[in-house]
Amino acid sequence: MNQKASPATGTVPCSGRQYRFASRMAKTPKSFIREILKVTENPQIISFAGGLPNPGLIDVDGIARAAASVLAQDGRSALQYSTTEGYLPLRRYIADRYKKRLGLVISPDEILITNGSQQCLDLLGKVLVNPGDHVAIERPGYLGAIQAFSLYEPVFHPILLHEDGPDMAQFAHEIERHAIRFFYGVPNSQNPSGITYSEDRRREIGKLLAGRDTLVIEDDAYGELSFDGIALPSLRTFLPDQTIITGSFSKILAPGMRLGWVVAPQQVMDQLVVAKQASDLHSNYLSQRIAYEYLLHEDIDKRIEGIREAYKQQCGLMISLIEEMMPDSVTCTHPKGGMFVWMTLPEKISSMEVFERAIRDQVAVLPGTPFYVDGGGNTNLRINFSNATPEKIRAGIGRLSRVIRTLERE
Ligand code: PMP
Repeated sequence: MNQKASPATGTVPCSGRQYRFASRMAKTPKSFIREILKVTENPQIISFAGGLPNPGLIDVDGIARAAASVLAQDGRSALQYSTTEGYLPLRRYIADRYKKRLGLVISPDEILITNGSQQCLDLLGKVLVNPGDHVAIERPGYLGAIQAFSLYEPVFHPILLHEDGPDMAQFAHEIERHAIRFFYGVPNSQNPSGITYSEDRRREIGKLLAGRDTLVIEDDAYGELSFDGIALPSLRTFLPDQTIITGSFSKILAPGMRLGWVVAPQQVMDQLVVAKQASDLHSNYLSQRIAYEYLLHEDIDKRIEGIREAYKQQCGLMISLIEEMMPDSVTCTHPKGGMFVWMTLPEKISSMEVFERAIRDQVAVLPGTPFYVDGGGNTNLRINFSNATPEKIRAGIGRLSRVIRTLERE
C-alpha cells in the first residue's frame, strides 16, 4: 500500500494492518518509567520520577580531555571494530578496582564490557532462562530487570525485601519448593527501595544457596555510591563460583557513555560472549577507550567522593522534609546510598491517585506498582533525589505533602 506522510502532522496514516508479534512480547511490561518520563519532559514539572544522575556532577571537561587525547593519539584504532569481550586495559582496571575495594580476585577474562549494565540483564536472561524457568527476584524489584527477564518468559518468585535484605524464611521456602535458576538482587542501595543488605543477611544468603544449582545475579549499579564510602562484601565472597556481578559506569562517570560490565565464571562467560556477538558484536569501542583514558589520568576517586557527598546531602534533605511535612502515617526508607527513597502511604491512599494529582500540581513521582511482578506497591512511591536541587526538593516535597494530606482527609 502506498502511504504518504500527512503534510500537516508528518505522521503516516494508519493502514489498518494488524501486525503480529512473538508471544514473548505480550508477557513483557512496557517500561512505565519511559512513559512517565514523557510526561515529565515538561520543564515546569519538578520530577522525582526518573533515575538520572545529577548532571552537574558529570565531568564534561575531563571526559572532553580524554576524548581529545584518544582521538589525537590513536583515533583510527579507537574508531575501528573491536573485540566482543571489550578493551583489555579497561577490563584490567575493573578487575584491579574489585581487588582494592572489595578484596575480590577477578581475572580480566571473567569480565565482559557491555552497553550499560542493562544489557547484562538481557544477555543473562538470554543465556540462562528457558520459558517456564523459575527466577527469584526482590519484592519490590528493579523494573528494568523485570522487563529484561520477562522477554525470556520465566516464572518469577518475588522475595519480600526488609530494611536489612530479603526475607530469609520466604527465600528458603521458595528455594526448597522450586528449582530456582537464579536469584537477582541489588544488595547495595537498591532500586527502587534504597535498601542495603546487612552483612549478616549476605552471609545467610551465602549459606542458603551454597552448593545448590542456583546462581546469584548481584546487580551492583550503586555499589560505589554508599554515602559513607563503606563497601559491604559482595555475595561473591560467600558464593565464589555461583555469583555473577553486574557493574556500571553510568552512576560514576556518565550514563550516556553506555558502559557497564558483567563478571561471570568462565563457562557462563563463554555463552555471554556468543549472545553479545549476536546482539551487537561489541560495546561502543570509542566510549571504552575514552573511559579508560579518563580513569588513567583523572581522579575518579575524588569525583566519586563528590558524588557521594552531594547525594548524601540531597537524600538527607529529602528525608528531613518528608518527616517534617508529611502526615505521621507516611513512612520512608533511610537509604545509605544510591539515588532513591521509597515511601509508604497509609492503606487508603493509592499511589496512582497521588501520581495523577501530583502531576496536576507539577510534581512527578513514580507509583510503586510496576516494581511488583505479583501485584502490590499500591501504597508506595519511588522518589528520586539525585537529580533535584535543594530548592526543587523543598518545593516538590511541599506540593506532594499537600496532595497526600488532601487525599487523607477525603
Ligand atoms: N541496574 C539497576 C539496579 C539500575 O537502577 C540501573 C539503571 N537505572 C541499571 C541496572 C542499568 O543501568 P546502566 O545500563 O546505565 O548501567
